[in-house]
Amino acid sequence: MEFGSFRKMQTPVYLDHHATTPLDPRVLEAMLPYFGPRFGNAASRTHRFGWEAEKAVEHARRQVAALLGAEAREIVFTSGATESNNLALKGAAEALQGRGAHIVTLATEHRAVLDPLRHLERQGVRATVLPPRSDGRVDLDQIRDALQPDTALVSVMLANNEIGVVQPVHEIGALCRERGILFHCDAAQALGRLPIHVRDQNIDLMSLSAHKMYGPKGMGALYIRRQAPRVALTAQMDGGGHESGYRSGTLNVPAIVGFGAACEISAAEMQDEAERVGSLRDRLQSRLFSELDGVSVNGSQEYRLPGNLNVRFASVEAASLLLALPDLALSTGSACSSATAGPSHVLQALGLTAAEARSSVRFGLGRFNTEEEVDFAAARVVQAVRQLREHSPLASGVSTPRPRR
Ligand SMILES: *Cc1c(COP(=O)(O)O)cnc(C)c1O
Repeated sequence: MEFGSFRKMQTPVYLDHHATTPLDPRVLEAMLPYFGPRFGNAASRTHRFGWEAEKAVEHARRQVAALLGAEAREIVFTSGATESNNLALKGAAEALQGRGAHIVTLATEHRAVLDPLRHLERQGVRATVLPPRSDGRVDLDQIRDALQPDTALVSVMLANNEIGVVQPVHEIGALCRERGILFHCDAAQALGRLPIHVRDQNIDLMSLSAHKMYGPKGMGALYIRRQAPRVALTAQMDGGGHESGYRSGTLNVPAIVGFGAACEISAAEMQDEAERVGSLRDRLQSRLFSELDGVSVNGSQEYRLPGNLNVRFASVEAASLLLALPDLALSTGSACSSATAGPSHVLQALGLTAAEARSSVRFGLGRFNTEEEVDFAAARVVQAVRQLREHSPLASGVSTPRPRR
């Protein structure tokens, strides 16, 4: 990838790729004609405008499917991973009614899994929400022990949006398949960053989001396994019967085209990009650790996304730190739960105290970040942490900053 390195650094430096990613210029280019002359409705069967749109949608469907090892007909386009999670959980629960209604998930899942589950619980579904280990990973034995005779579905994300931790989905998939239990996986953060193969991984339902992988916002998909065994799912949006009846509504053709293009780019560049972004992350981490005391990583350092670094700065309020860093676009946790401003439910599920969770910052590096940006960010963070600790009543005795060099 060249383009980052030729670009002059601009501030604020974007280090919040778990919240969303910039649109890749190549994706924008692919989308533009569909905002212009190719405006047709993909469901119009009687003229060239419709045929052109439908052709573009089917091409994109193949591009998305290819990145997952799925078949095109197993991809249902939605408005994003939130909708996909709702369709997967509510749709499966509705389809399985009478055959058992127990669902197993993790306390570190995204709100877009936990909240639909809460909704289902009000309708009589039973849920087991497992706490992961302190490194953020779930033990296969924990899942096995949580299964009940009427467990219908297990929902475990591939990679976490706050701590980047990657779950052992392959093993969970095998366990579920063995017991005839549906396995849903929220892969919004993993798509385009980690290799995914829904068949090898025994995944029945997988939620995807385009804007987390350099595609447009408001676009995503649900992978629904169609064979051996075919997943039964009840639509949650009825209307014209689009998307094989799973999701009615006129298709967002430009965004679908962009999603497809983003998937094709990721398929070609994922490996190199993961290496490059991973080494930028390691560079950031080693600079923070060598220049500051009282820094620790939240979550597994072995099983995590290449661009993720979630760190805790002892005796520093992350909110104050971010205020002191206007040149950096960072986050204290999930952008999606900004409506509920409490400390991160993910970090608390790892066993962190509320105070520890409030001293944690999430760095999310991505495709267009450069070494220059990472060095700039590290220097700014080090400086700000030292300054805050000097002035903080919390800092006395907890962890003294090193003298400035
Ligand atoms: C961003 C995200 C979502 C929500 O995706 P949208 O496409 O924004 O609705 C769901 N799950 C995870 C893990 C995410 O990171």
